[in-house]
Amino acid sequence: MGQAINAAAERLAEAGIDTAHFDSRLMAAEVLGVEMRRLPASHHAELSPEDAARLAAMLDRRAAREPMSHILGRRGFWTHDFLVTKDTLDPRPDTETLIEAVLGALDDRGRPLRLVDFGTGTGCILLTLLSELGHATGLGIDASEAALAVAGDNAERLGLASRAQFRLGDWGWGLDGVFDIIVSNPPYIPDGDIDGLEPEVSRYEPRSALAGGADGLDCYRALIPHMARLLVPGGLAALEVGAGQASDVAAMLAAAGLPGAGFRCDLGGIERCVIV
Ligand code: GLN
Repeated sequence: MGQAINAAAERLAEAGIDTAHFDSRLMAAEVLGVEMRRLPASHHAELSPEDAARLAAMLDRRAAREPMSHILGRRGFWTHDFLVTKDTLDPRPDTETLIEAVLGALDDRGRPLRLVDFGTGTGCILLTLLSELGHATGLGIDASEAALAVAGDNAERLGLASRAQFRLGDWGWGLDGVFDIIVSNPPYIPDGDIDGLEPEVSRYEPRSALAGGADGLDCYRALIPHMARLLVPGGLAALEVGAGQASDVAAMLAAAGLPGAGFRCDLGGIERCVIV
């Protein structure tokens, strides 16, 4: 087992993967159906031929820089695992900043709050908030039917389907009603920067979930004009932004009648969330 893992790690390191050893252990654990910390320590424990073949197939995919999340079909976010596919953006630790910002701004988490999440993808933001806010209900909007199917599956798996609805939509167009909380992590990478991202992202994540137009801000331009109308007076809005975009987005919010935005930094010290 140890030898198989070391050989796998060597191959991944050659493919330029920094997390080669960790990823190899994760794939071995997946093949054996055990938690990583329970992997057999013995160097002599052999993989069955079937398991060895499964590990080899996973390794081929990873060596081609396919992300671990696509190989495993899931990725952890906050306290849950979320199903992911090639049609959804992987949940990222950066986005946990938005969850913290929203939870930190609420004085009463038990209220029957209404949430809307624009560009819901896997549903990770909406479903995490619903699981933390026991009496909240939420609507997840996305322009991708395939992503909405994944979000719906995640809601089922997490036992949140009765409080979550998903709907095809284009930012705020045609949406009625008012919400206590508006959240979004829209695509915000400047189009020209996408090809320079790591291959796991540029080759495998959906371009439609990354590309934010020439300056990365197109989706904010589409969404923000609808927000004042959709937010209850005194409601809360939290938008994830890319590096260097926070003040531009705050200015757009102010121009749309939502002044006084604050910022929250991610673990890397980058202003990652704009909150009103
Ligand atoms: N809302 C989802 C997330 O935060 C998807 C975001 C996106 O596709 N840009 O992961």
